Amino acid sequence: MVDMHWLRQSAKGGLHSLVEWVWPSRSLVSGDRGGQGPGVAPEELARLIFLQAGCRLCARPLEAVWSPDAVCPACLAKPPPWDEARAAVLYDEVSRPIVLNLKHGGRREGLEILCRWMVHAGRDMLESTDYLVPVPLHYRRLVRRGFNQSAWLAQGGSRQTGRSLLVDGLVRWRHTPSQAGKTLRQRRRNVAGAFAVRPRHRSSIEGRRITLIDDVMTTGATARACCRALRQAGAQKINLLMLARVVRAYDVTI
Ligand SMILES: [Zn+2]
Repeated sequence: MVDMHWLRQSAKGGLHSLVEWVWPSRSLVSGDRGGQGPGVAPEELARLIFLQAGCRLCARPLEAVWSPDAVCPACLAKPPPWDEARAAVLYDEVSRPIVLNLKHGGRREGLEILCRWMVHAGRDMLESTDYLVPVPLHYRRLVRRGFNQSAWLAQGGSRQTGRSLLVDGLVRWRHTPSQAGKTLRQRRRNVAGAFAVRPRHRSSIEGRRITLIDDVMTTGATARACCRALRQAGAQKINLLMLARVVRAYDVTI
């Protein structure tokens, strides 16, 4: 008689070997092969800066005495249009390869780990979230790239928390040049009015608590434009959750 359990385990093992052969295990940071599976080596993990103590409105790390309600001077002077924001890691030379491999390389073998970091950073806001909504790509960019990394992060976040996902809640209906290399003012002008809530999802957004998911926040111009579209559709609360947060303007190379 065939042992079904053994058969299933063997099939899994075979599939794993095949995946390992096609895409060998390697570090998400250094790209070194031959580890115990995709991930981050302890010495790399120690160099990543997790944003545990950040401004609750923009996730910027705060160096002064921190409390969960702390707000940075920039947000005190001019609060952002969303309610709260959290980021998993600081965007720096250590986290950059992780972000770029996901964004431009389409490497998703470490996705569950990245989503776990993100979910941990946003655990308080996710408890009171009705829908996760990713920042969308214009369909031309989506066709060229073949995937939307923010949608991957939102799907993973939904899977890990059980929160509902509106993967196409927002649409980027205007194609805009890349934000890379632009000043804050240019970035805001570039994406102003580029997003809208899909008409068929308006009733899902109205009166709901939305967590907008993005891979990286640089100046917040994209998040601001998405936020405006969600507010226009009647969202009751809008929080931001991102994988990485750029802090210094000269870090902006994405
Ligand atoms: Zn702030």
